[in-house]
Amino acid sequence: MANTNQLTIYAAYQQLKQKQISSVELTQAYLQRIHEVDSKVKALVSVTAELAIKQAKKADQMIAAGESTPLTGIPAIIKDNMCTQGVKTTCSSKMLENFVPPYNATVIEKLNQTGMVMVGKANMDEFAMGSSTENSAFFTTRNPWDLERVPGGSSGGSAASVAAGEATYSLGSDTGGSIRQPAGFCSVTGLKPTYGRVSRYGLIAFASSLDQIGPLTQDVRDCALVMNCISGYDHRDSTSMQKEVPDYLKSLVPDIKGLRVGIPKEYFVEGMQPEVKTAIESAINKMIELGALVDWNVSLPSSPYALAVYYIIAPSEASANLARYDGVKYGFSYQDGVNMWDNMEKTRQFGFGPEVKRRIMLGTYALSSGYYDAYYLKAQKVRTLIRREFDEAFAKYDVLITPTSTSVPFKIGEKVDDPIQMYLSDVCTLPINIAGVPAISIPAGFARGLPVGMQIIGRPFSEETLFKTAYTYQQATDWHLKKPVL
Ligand code: GLN
Repeated sequence: MANTNQLTIYAAYQQLKQKQISSVELTQAYLQRIHEVDSKVKALVSVTAELAIKQAKKADQMIAAGESTPLTGIPAIIKDNMCTQGVKTTCSSKMLENFVPPYNATVIEKLNQTGMVMVGKANMDEFAMGSSTENSAFFTTRNPWDLERVPGGSSGGSAASVAAGEATYSLGSDTGGSIRQPAGFCSVTGLKPTYGRVSRYGLIAFASSLDQIGPLTQDVRDCALVMNCISGYDHRDSTSMQKEVPDYLKSLVPDIKGLRVGIPKEYFVEGMQPEVKTAIESAINKMIELGALVDWNVSLPSSPYALAVYYIIAPSEASANLARYDGVKYGFSYQDGVNMWDNMEKTRQFGFGPEVKRRIMLGTYALSSGYYDAYYLKAQKVRTLIRREFDEAFAKYDVLITPTSTSVPFKIGEKVDDPIQMYLSDVCTLPINIAGVPAISIPAGFARGLPVGMQIIGRPFSEETLFKTAYTYQQATDWHLKKPVL
């Protein structure tokens, strides 16, 4: 067996199918790897060893019975904001520190049916609010490429665990960049699907008009394999689309001759690290070499407002979604107050961390009477403009390409005291959620010795085009094959 941090789903699947290895052996290898490296990387909130072995045994039976799919028996890690029945789901918050969901999220249900082996739950920024995992109420995850640096966030544990070989793949969620930015920072492949492509039933809500679940993997083929399993309509999520799911594997054809690529200039923002810019430019030149027709001079003039729009809309929705944590229904409950109101107040005071409180206050303010029109309604209008500009661009281009982030992974502690600086680390990814379109981040080189991600954006439900483009690039380059040494 290859080192766990080099093993793709596809390769593991071949080995399982040919009986060169069993799922139990594979699972033990990953649990061993977790044991060796997670004290350094700190990607996991829980290790579910016992469950994993049980699931691996079941997967081996499925394989023996000829009932396997490419994901059967493959070890995975799930971001700790997706409900897993009988397994603690903390959202990296004190509020849910001891919460054991009585049901599975739809994505978990789907993966279980195909014989997933879940080895652990991944650390994240509390309630998915953040860009570095430093907002976790428990601990900060470290970037496997440099343990002094952040892995990105909020799905930092999901990205770091895949880069470190603690799982073959992981699931993350992306509200404003939380899959793509950590994927870029850890040099793995991460997809935010089109809004409505993957069911969010059982995903702990942050901002409901923006949240999407998606895979983090070693390469594009693995990403397509996971999407084949988790995509599709779900009657329990009214925002999921009744739209047929194609076989994404079929889109993995290394041919982008004539592909029309637009480079929106607003995404090469001032203050971007020049080495990151250079790395992305050479990745784009590679695309040209491979036959893409690149227009370097595309403009999405409203995109620079996406950050402001996001920080009105996301906190507004969060303030409504988080109202349920009142110490009565479930989760942490303060009991020693003088009356019910006091208990509710203290539940929130002690249960939520500072960033979550900041967002609730921002959102409550933006939605309050007198401010609703000035902030929330205005933001919704600008949102429409941003979306329209994407529509117009996609009339001319098949995909748009930008850097995933403006910088390489920053040092732990560097931005924690400056929320605005932290918010700025998502300027390239936020507009994509605002517009509801899909985007993938793939490894595109190194700058200052650290990973750089390239973001490829597509029309709604054009995941196939993204896969094809990203796959062609990965077939011609080997950035995605480089692994951190731990
Ligand atoms: N970093 C952004 C935020 O803090 C995005 C988070 C996300 O995508 N969940 O809101």
